[in-house]
Amino acid sequence: MSRSVLVTGGNRGIGLAIARAFAEAGDKVAFTYRSGEPPAALLDLGCLPVKCDITDSEQVEQAYKEIEEKQGAVEVLVANAGVTRDQLLLRMSEEDFTSVLDTNLTGTFRVVKRASKGMLRARKGRIVLISSVVGLLGAAGQANYAASKAGLVGFARSIARELGSRSITCNVVAPGFVDTDMTRVLTDEQREAITKQVPLARYAQPEEIAASVRFLASDEAAYITGAVIPVDGGLGMGH
Ligand code: NDP
Repeated sequence: MSRSVLVTGGNRGIGLAIARAFAEAGDKVAFTYRSGEPPAALLDLGCLPVKCDITDSEQVEQAYKEIEEKQGAVEVLVANAGVTRDQLLLRMSEEDFTSVLDTNLTGTFRVVKRASKGMLRARKGRIVLISSVVGLLGAAGQANYAASKAGLVGFARSIARELGSRSITCNVVAPGFVDTDMTRVLTDEQREAITKQVPLARYAQPEEIAASVRFLASDEAAYITGAVIPVDGGLGMGH
């Protein structure tokens, strides 16, 4: 059955792979982008590009209105959009901290809150939040990012409790290091040091994250909620 899916930050990286996976499986997929041109790879699959910055509630509201009009109320939401602004604590400005929180955590709150309206009405829905292994392990230079990603776990589990009786699930996927623009800024030495710590001894491809997200949104995962699914090559084992 074709569902109405929304992927935030779907114009590149992990979000693009997630949007593509749902579209190739026959779902109606809307994805947000902030600037530039939406990718041909998704337009060719019939996906709906929606311009939206998730730090702006008004833009989020407009995006949902457009999606509801063009492909129906969102039944599957993947809150993927995220940023880093790495800095050691003593050098981290308050703006470095609050801007990352505003995108990764409050931005997720904005899109989940708006999606829940339609899901509550429909008495069903799937919400998947993209966190990170760093949210559980911590990382030097990423106090802002790690706090935002850890925050998503408490947020998801509260939503899972609030909305569960209406057959709405809310789960978290916690990727390890994935080969995208976000990690391409690392030096070769940094990449090598990270790879040494990963039991599977490599980075993930975005498609490997998308597969878990699709599973959590499938009928087979109907009884999974409030879970944190690591897709990290074993890096975060033990949490
Ligand atoms: P990219 O940097 O490649 O892409 C980030 C995406 O988020 C882009 O589409 C970007 O849009 C979007 N975005 C950022 N800020 C906003 C905003 N304010 N409003 C709307 N969209 C926004 O990152 P990845 O694909 O690697 O990461 C995707 C998610 O996965 C993130 O949440 C990230 O934290 C998480 N993650 C990534 C890991 C990795 O190793 N790559 C590991 C663990 C988690 P635009 O193109 O307009 O900037």
